Amino acid sequence: MAKRRGNDSRRLLRRLRDTLAAPGESQDRLDSITHHIADSMETEVCSIYLFRDAETLELCASEGLKTEAVHQTRLRLGEGLVGRVARTGRHVNTADAPSEPGFRFMPETGEEVYPSFLGVPIQRVGERLGVLVVQSREARQFTEDEIYGLEVVAMVLAEMTELGAFSGNDNDSLPMEHHFPVLFRGTAGQEGAAEGRVWLHEPRVVVANPVGDDPETEKARLHEGIATLRSRVDTMLAEADMGPDGDHAQVLETYRMFANSRSWQKRMEEDIDLGLSAEAAVEKEQSQARARLEMAADPYLRDRLHDLDDLSNRLLRILTGQGSDTGAEMPDDPILVARNIGPADLLDYGRKLKAVVLEEGSVGSHAAIVARALAIPLVIHASRITSEALNGDPILVDGDGGIVHLRPEDSVAAAFRDKIAMQAAAQSRYAGLRDLPAEGTCGTRVELFMNAGLMADLPSMEGSGAEGVGLFRTELQFLTRTRVPRRSELAALYARVMDAAKGRPVVFRTLDIGSDKVLPYMKPQDEPNPAMGWRAIRVGLEKRGVLRMQLQALIRAAAGRPLHVMFPFVAEAGEYDAAHRMLMEELAREQRLGHNLPSDIRVGSMIETPSMAFAPVSFFKSCDFVSIGGNDLKQFFFAADRENELVRRRYDTLSEPFLAMLDQIIARCEAAGVKLSFCGEDAGRPVEALTFAALGIKRLSMRPASIGPVKHLIRHTNLCDLRKVIDQARADGQPVRRAVTEFLARIDIPR
Ligand code: PEP
Ligand code: MG
Repeated sequence: MAKRRGNDSRRLLRRLRDTLAAPGESQDRLDSITHHIADSMETEVCSIYLFRDAETLELCASEGLKTEAVHQTRLRLGEGLVGRVARTGRHVNTADAPSEPGFRFMPETGEEVYPSFLGVPIQRVGERLGVLVVQSREARQFTEDEIYGLEVVAMVLAEMTELGAFSGNDNDSLPMEHHFPVLFRGTAGQEGAAEGRVWLHEPRVVVANPVGDDPETEKARLHEGIATLRSRVDTMLAEADMGPDGDHAQVLETYRMFANSRSWQKRMEEDIDLGLSAEAAVEKEQSQARARLEMAADPYLRDRLHDLDDLSNRLLRILTGQGSDTGAEMPDDPILVARNIGPADLLDYGRKLKAVVLEEGSVGSHAAIVARALAIPLVIHASRITSEALNGDPILVDGDGGIVHLRPEDSVAAAFRDKIAMQAAAQSRYAGLRDLPAEGTCGTRVELFMNAGLMADLPSMEGSGAEGVGLFRTELQFLTRTRVPRRSELAALYARVMDAAKGRPVVFRTLDIGSDKVLPYMKPQDEPNPAMGWRAIRVGLEKRGVLRMQLQALIRAAAGRPLHVMFPFVAEAGEYDAAHRMLMEELAREQRLGHNLPSDIRVGSMIETPSMAFAPVSFFKSCDFVSIGGNDLKQFFFAADRENELVRRRYDTLSEPFLAMLDQIIARCEAAGVKLSFCGEDAGRPVEALTFAALGIKRLSMRPASIGPVKHLIRHTNLCDLRKVIDQARADGQPVRRAVTEFLARIDIPR
C-alpha cells in the first residue's frame, strides 16, 4: 500500500515537474497542475489559492469549481476554511465543510455539492504563499496518507512559485510572488529614516529542483548531508570553548541532539519516498517547524524549534552548496535585512549601510548599540521580513516609528522622500549653529557633549558641534571581539579617540559589562536578574585584572594630555573610593615604569542607582564630576526594565518623584561644588533636555544627531522663565511635561 502510495505520488510530482519545464503560459500551467492533482487524488475538485496581497487570497486555478469564479473569488487571511489554513499554516480536513466553524459560503464557485474538504498551506520556510485544496462529492474524511501526500505536492508548488513558475508577464491577473508591497510594524531601535535596497545578511537558499528522480539517490544525498552537518556541529561545539557547565552547554547539547535526531531524518526520508528531492524534504520539515514555531507560546518549545530551524538552514546550505556568498552584488544604498546579527558582523558592514531591519533583537542588544553608534536607523521585531524580502527589493525604513515599507507603492515612497528631505533640511539648518553656544535667552549657558563608543563616532564631533565626549562607552571594543583585547591595542585606540577630539575633553567610562552586555569569551553567570547582578564596577573591583589593564591603557593613551575617567554603576561611596584608589595605584605604577603621565586626571562617578541620589555630600566632594546615567537610574527608580517593551515607556522622566530625586542630586552637587552632567538617552530629547537645563544640570551628553535640535531649542528659550513655569507646575501638582510643552508652544520657536 505504502509502495503504491509512493509510486502514485512520485508519478504526480514528475508530471508537475514536466508541466513546469514545458513552455507555456503561467495560467495554463496552474490549470494543468490542478487537473493532475485532482486526477491523482481521485477528487472532483482541486483548487489553488494564492496571495494577491499580504492579506488577501485569490482563487487562481481550479479543476471542478466554476470557471467564472477563477480570479474573482477572494478571501481575507483567516476568512473561511481556506483563510484559516493560510493563517495557521496547518491543514483543515473535514467531511462536512459547511458545519465547520468559520465556513464561508461562496455561491459563485458552485462548491456546495462537495462537502468534504482538505486544504493544506502552500508555504516555504514560514513564508505563506497560498493554499491548495481538494474537495469531493462523497462526504468523507481524508486519510493521514492523503493529507501527507497533498502536503508534499504543496511543497513542490511552493518551490515552483518561488522559482517564478506562475508569475510570468503573460498574465497580469496572476499575483506576482514577492512583488506586492508589504508593511512591517516593528519596534524603533534607532531613529532616522532611510530609503534603499534590501541586502540580505543570509540570502535565501533556492531549491532549483524540488522533485527527486530516484528516492535511493536522494536518500544517499540526505545521509551524506546529515553526516557533514553532524561533524560541523561537533566541531562548532568543540570550538565554542565555553566550559562544561551552565545553560550554554545544555543548549548546545540539545542542538547536537537535534542534529542526531532519528525521527527528523525519518520524516525527511518519507518525504523523499513520496517524490521530493533531498533539499525539498528538508524544506518541507523546516516549513512545518516554522509554522509550529509561530504558534508556540511556550518559550522552551520555541527555543527548540529555533534550533531545528537553524539546523535545517545549515543542512540546506550543505545540500545546495549555497553559502552566504551568492555572488550577488551589494547595492549602492544597502539596507540590511536579517533575522538577527552580532555586533562584529554589523561593524564589518559599517557605515555603508543605510539602515538595518531585524526580525529579532532588542533595543539594548549589542547590534542596537552598534547601530546607534553608527547612527544607522534600526527597526527590530519586523516579524517575517527575511521570508518576504529579496535582495535588491526597494525598501523604506522609518526608525522613528519602527515601520518598514517593503516594495512600497509610489505614493508611499513619495511621502517618505518628503520626510527624508525635511529631516535633511533641518540638519543643514542645525549645521549653521555648530559654532554657536547653547545659551538660553536669559544667558544660561549649557554645555552639549556627545556620547560615543567607537572610533567611528568621532567624525560626528565636528559636524554636530559637540564640545566634548561626555560618555565614551568602552565596552564595545570588548563586545565585538572573540578574546580580551590587549592593553597595547586599547591604549592605541584611546589615544586615537583623544587625537580625534582635538583637545576637547573625552570622558572614558570604564568597562560596563554584565547585565545585557555579555562578553563572548566570559563564562556567563547564571544570574536570575543580571541587570541588578554582578556587573560593571562590581566585576571590576573583584576581577581586578581587566579593570587594571584598562586603567593602564587609559593612562598610557593620555601621555601628557588631560585624562577623564568615570566609573559605572557605583551603588555606594565605598565602591567609588576603591576604584579611585585603584586608579591612583596604577598611576603610581606607570610613573615607576617611567611612562609619560597624563597632565591632569579628573575622576568621576556615574549616578545610576537611586542610592547615590541620597549619598552624603562627602561622596560628591570626593568626585571631580558626576554624571547621571538616566537609562539605568530610571529603570531602578521605577522598577521598569529598560529593555522590556511592555514597560520601558510606561513611566515619565518628568514625573514629580523622578524630578524630586534629581533635586537631591543637583542640591548635593551644588553643596559639594562638583560638576554635574546627564548622559542617559533622555538628555537628547528636547522637552527633557530643556527641563534638565532649567533645573540646573548644565552639561548634557547625547547622541550627536540630537545636539543640533537641542541647541536650537535652548537658544530660543528663556530658561529662567521656564524654571519658574516648572516650579509653579510642581507647586500646583500639575504635570511638568504638559507645562513645559505648553510653554514651548507659547514662545515663537522657528521650525
Ligand atoms: C545610562 O545608564 O543612562 C547610561 C548612560 O549607561 P548605559 O546606557 O551604557 O547603561
Ligand atoms: Mg548605565
